[in-house]
Amino acid sequence: MKVDYIIVGLGLAGLAFAEELIQAKKTFLVFEDASQTSSLVAGGVYNPVVLRKFTAVWKAAEQLDLAIPFYERLEQKLNIKFDEKFVIKRAFKSVEEQNNWFAASDNLVLKRFLNPAIENKKVPGVIGDFGFGTVNETGRIDTLKLVKAYRNFLMDEKCIRFEKFEHLKLKVSAEKITYKEIECKQVVFCEGFGIKGNPFFKDLPLEEAKGELLTIHAPELNIDFLLKSALFLIPLGDNRYKVGATFNHVDKTATPSEKGKLELVDKLKKVINVPYEIIDQTAGIRPTTNDRRPFIGQHKEHNRLAVLNGLGTRGVMLAPTMARNLFNCIEKDIALDLEIDIKRFQ
Ligand SMILES: Cc1cc2nc3c(=O)[nH]c(=O)nc-3n(C[C@H](O)[C@H](O)[C@H](O)COP(=O)(O)OP(=O)(O)OC[C@H]3O[C@@H](n4cnc5c(N)ncnc54)[C@H](O)[C@@H]3O)c2cc1C
Repeated sequence: MKVDYIIVGLGLAGLAFAEELIQAKKTFLVFEDASQTSSLVAGGVYNPVVLRKFTAVWKAAEQLDLAIPFYERLEQKLNIKFDEKFVIKRAFKSVEEQNNWFAASDNLVLKRFLNPAIENKKVPGVIGDFGFGTVNETGRIDTLKLVKAYRNFLMDEKCIRFEKFEHLKLKVSAEKITYKEIECKQVVFCEGFGIKGNPFFKDLPLEEAKGELLTIHAPELNIDFLLKSALFLIPLGDNRYKVGATFNHVDKTATPSEKGKLELVDKLKKVINVPYEIIDQTAGIRPTTNDRRPFIGQHKEHNRLAVLNGLGTRGVMLAPTMARNLFNCIEKDIALDLEIDIKRFQ
């Protein structure tokens, strides 16, 4: 069997790269072994603002301008809805924070996203004495729905195999790559935390961070915006909310824990004052990096092997831009921005 590309891993990174290949009419085969869950459990929020510091996310406008039409196109292609648009309301802890917000909303990059007005109206069920600031152009991609639908689409197209990719069976030469009975020109590894088992890229300094989320049902809470306070409350409809998320750099398992649950329950006490029931708990490992920039690029000795990883806490916004950059680098020889190029570690 001959294809142009093999993609290893079908989370947000693999999916975005597959879309680049389809648009360029390249053939490919994906391997997916269900070893990681990050893209399946993600909150899925896209938000151009760092809500802790009131600063802009790195290249926020550029990423958003590519990501929103990207997901819109996918909704049409897969004939499902997975992009829920809403605003984010940041609960202030002090008058000082209100002032900082007002100042930030005048910033050249942030003024597109931040509403300068401070909203002082109380929200039933929500704790907060200092009002809220609103972020526009935000929302949530239901990543579970998207990834599942995309995997089904690839199954119909007969270009995905649900099996582990065994790196040691890969034969790389200057002219081509062979893997079992498959011949291809390029392999792109989109393995998330699974990169730790990849002999070609395992030394990249991935600083994984386990994250856990609860889904709650709070019958007396009725908000249609994302609330950012001591934690996030993401509206799912029907008085259900995703609550999160934890950060744990020690536990490397993707299984929900009692510790994670207690941490979220404890923080939730500072956010809402209405009864709720926990209806679900999920966990996954975010592929985060020490310098908060993705890992994109080609292997220093085998340029037929490439990596698309390190999407960290913002895979939804980053994946389409990073996939485009990697594709342009491989196919059009367009140099990668040094900030994201894995050459910075070689
Ligand atoms: C609790 C939590 C909340 C989050 N919230 C948000 C959020 O609100 N917004 C946001 O933008 N981001 C969020 N993220 C981060 C986001 O999930 C990640 O940035 C993104 O999912 C990373 O995608 P990926 O494709 O690189 O990795 P993954 O999703 O981990 O995908 C890698 C895939 O490769 C497969 N794989 C690995 N090795 C092999 C192999 N050898 N053979 C075959 N298949 C293999 C795995 O099974 C997996 O499916 C959150 C993450 C967590 C854990």
